[in-house]
Amino acid sequence: MNDLARFRRAAHDAVDWLADYLENLERYPVCPAVQPGEIRSRLPAHPPESAESWDALLADLDRVVLPGITHWQSPMFFGYFPANASGPAIIGDLISSGLGVQGMMWATSPAATELETHVLDWMVDLMGLPEHFRSTGSGGGVIQDTASSASLVALLVARERKTRFTTNRVGVKGTLTAYTSSQAHSSIEKAAGIAGIGRENLRLIDVDHTYAMRPGALDRAIQTDLAAGRTPFFVSATVGTTSSTAIDPVRAIGEICRRHGLWLHVDAAHAGSAAVCPEFRWIHDGLELADSYCFNPHKWLLTNFDCDCFYVADRAALIQTLSILPEYLRNQATESGAVFDYRDWGIPLGRRFRALKLWFVIRAYGAEGLRTHIRNGVALAQEFAGWVKADDRFELCAPRPLNLVCFRLKAGDGANERLRDALNASGKMYLIHTKLDGKLVLRLAIGGTYTERRHLERAWALITETAAGLPGVGSGVD
Ligand SMILES: *Cc1c(COP(=O)(O)O)cnc(C)c1O
Repeated sequence: MNDLARFRRAAHDAVDWLADYLENLERYPVCPAVQPGEIRSRLPAHPPESAESWDALLADLDRVVLPGITHWQSPMFFGYFPANASGPAIIGDLISSGLGVQGMMWATSPAATELETHVLDWMVDLMGLPEHFRSTGSGGGVIQDTASSASLVALLVARERKTRFTTNRVGVKGTLTAYTSSQAHSSIEKAAGIAGIGRENLRLIDVDHTYAMRPGALDRAIQTDLAAGRTPFFVSATVGTTSSTAIDPVRAIGEICRRHGLWLHVDAAHAGSAAVCPEFRWIHDGLELADSYCFNPHKWLLTNFDCDCFYVADRAALIQTLSILPEYLRNQATESGAVFDYRDWGIPLGRRFRALKLWFVIRAYGAEGLRTHIRNGVALAQEFAGWVKADDRFELCAPRPLNLVCFRLKAGDGANERLRDALNASGKMYLIHTKLDGKLVLRLAIGGTYTERRHLERAWALITETAAGLPGVGSGVD
């Protein structure tokens, strides 16, 4: 494949294969009906001794890979949150692979660093984020692989700031306590474990009837820990919880953090993208009180995985926590202090050139195109919720600020489980469940690149027809 003429032909074939795939997305069962080990059994036991033809490779995509693919890009995929990809992002990622640069420092590829800094400042404009997150002030943004990594980094910097940058040398002190809501993403608990805080020192704060954190309960938990001689240091608020897109009251939480000197991190992994539309910026009310913030363009902003935008108000604290300078990485640009070396802004040393795909997405869609995509997703969710509400057999189970509808059959957990399983086994659509107040609830997450109104109509028809066939549910017309 070092022969460039062959590369050119093969790459064109691969793009054709991909375009055909995207064109035919709706023909595939959304979720594959395969057993564990089935895909592997189609692969030879040992690697090939001699080079295989490109045709053989492409053919195996159809024979081996596609039958085991969950079609996340299908317009009938409503599981988890969207992981929407788009043409500009795919091409950006392809070119990033071809350039093959290592963006660990400015000196190892200046364009990779400067484009990243610049595009993250663009996102501040596009989303109306607080000015203190801009790189031109004391803060700045960086692309992390995932929100899980971003939240872990935030927790580490918070830990170091609280302990005056000493635990990096002497180990974690035993009294630190962190806070998040009982509805927060599991990555916060994972981060508390990894950072040596201990999962048992993460307090899960109670939520209100909208599943948002109760600031009063947070304040009491902090007071209790202080009275017991512990050291509260970190709060993670969620804008758009994973179960139901609940929005924690960031302003009230931020004021409590200020009063007690705690780091406020805001995890808006999924919902943050909505802020490209001015009418949804209320979700970030109070964000100027946050020390750090993250959201994933790789969920709802047309940028394929992986791409998390992570911002801090004080980049000096971040760099002091994570910087390291072995002799072999010394260079003039770093020593001059005039550049960002992103290896000091996250956990890995090596970094992909991910800014390229985000840059392509922003330019190819324009702010207008991004807003249209978000607005479509929200409007479809509101319309779908209206259909659920009008059917006596169903109930809505949580507020719907954005693009996620939580609903259930009134007939009980068993009926909802059977409904979910029957829908997913049909291959015609895909959705998952969660639990809210101990009840099993179905989640329909909208926002795929190719999802249109007709897909929601079909989904609702499938749901009502399937429900009608379940024992004890009936047709809903009587
Ligand atoms: C999806 C999600 C995450 C995890 O995202 P990754 O980028 O996969 O780590 C974290 N927090 C919230 C609120 C999420 O919805």
